[in-house]
Amino acid sequence: MRNILVTGAGGFIAHHLVKRLKKEGCWVRGVDIKYPEFSGTLADEFKILDLRDISNCRAAMSPKGHFDEVYHLAADMGGMGFIHSAECEIMRNNVFIDNNMICAAAEFGIKNYFFSSSACVYRDMSPDEQELGEEAAYPAMPDNEYGWEKLYAERMALAYGRRYGIRIRIARFQNCFGPEGAWRGGREKAPAAMCRKIAQTENGGTIEIWGDGSAIRSYIYIEDMIEAIRCLVLSDLDTPTNIGNPEYISVNQLVDMVSEVAGKKVQIKNIEGPVGVRARNFGNCRIYTTGWRPKFSTIDGLRITYPWIEEQVKLAKRTVSR
Ligand code: NAD
Repeated sequence: MRNILVTGAGGFIAHHLVKRLKKEGCWVRGVDIKYPEFSGTLADEFKILDLRDISNCRAAMSPKGHFDEVYHLAADMGGMGFIHSAECEIMRNNVFIDNNMICAAAEFGIKNYFFSSSACVYRDMSPDEQELGEEAAYPAMPDNEYGWEKLYAERMALAYGRRYGIRIRIARFQNCFGPEGAWRGGREKAPAAMCRKIAQTENGGTIEIWGDGSAIRSYIYIEDMIEAIRCLVLSDLDTPTNIGNPEYISVNQLVDMVSEVAGKKVQIKNIEGPVGVRARNFGNCRIYTTGWRPKFSTIDGLRITYPWIEEQVKLAKRTVSR
């Protein structure tokens, strides 16, 4: 049986990863500053630890020699609004977490270490540009501080890997969505925000969208993400690897898709807000060499995610009216 440590296990992606690792028969310890919000963890053990403090990273990895693999997904992160308004917290907290985690991994003789990076390491693109390969992260010009910190943390992990013989695997995630992801409060990503807005709006109503809705993104469904992480960890790919869905859509198209799934017609009101890059369009050739391919189109994923968010909206309404 493999013993696995998953950080950020109270959050969206790592919570789903824990479920997957349990299905594979692993013994799993989850660590976070909070428990999962929407359903109980399946982890064998769950520790509340603040990983900005290296003594807590050591506690997470104890006893020495116990863990075969570490999946490090803990991060102070959120949607575009959060990324633009909390620059200092994002840089400070994540630098502490990422540095301390890899230092503790070296001290504890961890052999396999996965780090979740982001498509935010890439520069702004124009919508008609060719897909970027992983090497296009340099010369570096991320659009936001979250991306700069991720790029630094990638390098930190790789440097420790070289010095201490740790097998490092790094994924650069596109936007991920699915049930049990943040859907309100500012940390939610665009698909969850659109699902919430449309669930809260009557048929024929109006929703507000930041910017003119022309920004291009791709969104990967959580089940595809988890499968890709496992394929990457099992592979020989020892340099940062993009994981995304090659379906590029504008924010306006995303609204149309959610409206279709919800069976509602909505009007869009464009307002000022942090839009982020105009386009982000990166290639998945490297992860495809593992045989992985996304199975869910954006609308397939929304057909599962929208009813879950609609239910959360109803539950929240009932709680308020009680
Ligand atoms: P999430 O916010 O749901 O999960 C992150 C978890 O980290 C949270 O539960 C949070 O409480 C925990 N955390 C924050 N500070 C901590 C601390 N000091 N100590 C311990 N735990 C702490 O985010 P997610 O969407 O599940 O993202 C997981 C990883 O993937 C993150 O590293 C994120 O940067 C990366 N990523 C996510 C996306 C996406 O679309 N969701 C895209 C690119 C990269």
